[in-house]
Amino acid sequence: MKNLSIAPIQDISLDQALRPKTWAEYVGQEKIKRNLRIIIDAAKKRGEPLEHLLFYGNSGLGKTTLSHIIAQEMGANIRMTSGPAIERVGDLAAILTNLSEGDILFIDECHRLNRIIEEYLYPAMEDFKLNIIIGKGPMASTMELPLKRFTLVGATTKVAMISSPLRNRFGATFQLSFYETGDIEKIIQRSAGILGVGIEPEAVKLISQRSRFTPRVANRLLKRARDFAQVEGQGLITESIAKKALDLLEIDEAGLEFGDRRILETLITKFEGGPVGLQTLAAATSEEQDALLDIYEPYLMQLGFMERTPQGRKATKLAYLHLGIKYKGNQNLL
Ligand code: ADP
Repeated sequence: MKNLSIAPIQDISLDQALRPKTWAEYVGQEKIKRNLRIIIDAAKKRGEPLEHLLFYGNSGLGKTTLSHIIAQEMGANIRMTSGPAIERVGDLAAILTNLSEGDILFIDECHRLNRIIEEYLYPAMEDFKLNIIIGKGPMASTMELPLKRFTLVGATTKVAMISSPLRNRFGATFQLSFYETGDIEKIIQRSAGILGVGIEPEAVKLISQRSRFTPRVANRLLKRARDFAQVEGQGLITESIAKKALDLLEIDEAGLEFGDRRILETLITKFEGGPVGLQTLAAATSEEQDALLDIYEPYLMQLGFMERTPQGRKATKLAYLHLGIKYKGNQNLL
């Protein structure tokens, strides 16, 4: 049998290896951590399962990771699923009836739960019972299945799309925000340690500046820089190796990728900087509206390159500067 402790790290899932397992390893989001620790300590003192929790924020900010740490702290099992994966009531019943007391049920993308499933979830969350209807028409009867007291942890990138009855059934809701650059630097340093690769402080800075303030992106870029260092360099990630790796990926100094720049360029060159409606912009860039809303726009707005106005999307002066396009004021507003 292979000794896991000396097996190369590639043998284990890398992403799993990089995922923080304790509060100490989970960098940033201090307010959320403080609140969660209180909620967890209080539940433990009362000897009760944790209240249902909802996390929202962009993809890669650490919602899943938080849920794992919570389970660990509570000494509970965690069962992972996602909104679209629960298609039928039977799927939900199978999941819920298999949970033990205090287990954590993590539902990713919980804004994509269908309405019928939601209706069944309400009594499950509130009274820990599932009312299953058996048969059809006048012969139909309801069977009440008692459930163990579990904790639902929901995660979503779109909190506005969660119906208010569902939202109200969570005991606490937390918004994860983009990370400070200093925190991303800490994450890169820690991950480099786990990957067993040397990295110069200037390279840490460079990668962190281009990581979209997001841990998942930071880890992804670090892995690419490591590949580059192994193939083109001596295995050490220097500033110049990091820069070459990121240039090859077409990620610029602001962390913009090809797709981000294309959106800004379209906004500026085809629509004179906007304002332009989401639908039109999606059509002009051949992007899904959802991708614009969830992936591109939050970061472009965070950088101050794009504004959402009631009239539509607008490129800011900063965006023109970044792309090296002469800013003539916003033509459509003149
Ligand atoms: P989400 O569920 O919000 O999409 P994840 O929890 O899957 O994000 O996080 C993506 C990756 O980023 C994780 O595997 C982990 O390695 C890293 N990560 C996320 N948050 C943190 C953090 N606060 N500190 C260190 N690493 C983090």
